This record gives sequence, structure tokens and C-alpha cells, in this order.
Amino acid sequence: MSLKFCKTCGTLYDEAKVECPKCAAKALEPDYDELTYDREMDKAEADRLRRKSWIQLIIGVPAFIGVLYLAGYLIKMFVLK
Ligand SMILES: [Zn+2]
Repeated sequence: MSLKFCKTCGTLYDEAKVECPKCAAKALEPDYDELTYDREMDKAEADRLRRKSWIQLIIGVPAFIGVLYLAGYLIKMFVLK
């Protein structure tokens, strides 16, 4: 058995393995040991921002269309007069 040196984390591992076990484990599951609270906060914040953007979209798009219709209506009124 020969060992390979991981370029990413510097761990020595079995050359038979395709990738470094340390990096592979890290990629597969998030590290809950640290900053779990912050991660939860980030998730809540992301959800809040996503909801906010949805609300902006739901309100903003009809409002924008309404403004366009109103502008078109006013232009028609002035042109037809
Ligand atoms: Zn590694």
C-alpha cells in the first residue's frame, strides 16, 4: 500500500482510494460541529429573503403592469382629445 498526499488538506491517504477521505467526507456532509447556530440563522435569513423577493415579485409585477396600463390609458386620453 502506498500513500497519496492530498493537495487540498494535506492528509496522507491510501492511493487505492480515488479521493482523499477527509475531503470526501467534508464534501458529503456539512460540518455541524462548528457554527451550527450561524448556519441556522443563514438558512432562516435566506428563507426570509426568498419570501421577501417573492412578495416583491407578486406585488411589483402587477403594479408595474398597472402603471403601464395607466400610462397607456392617459396617453390614449390625451391623443384622442
Ligand atoms: Zn483532502
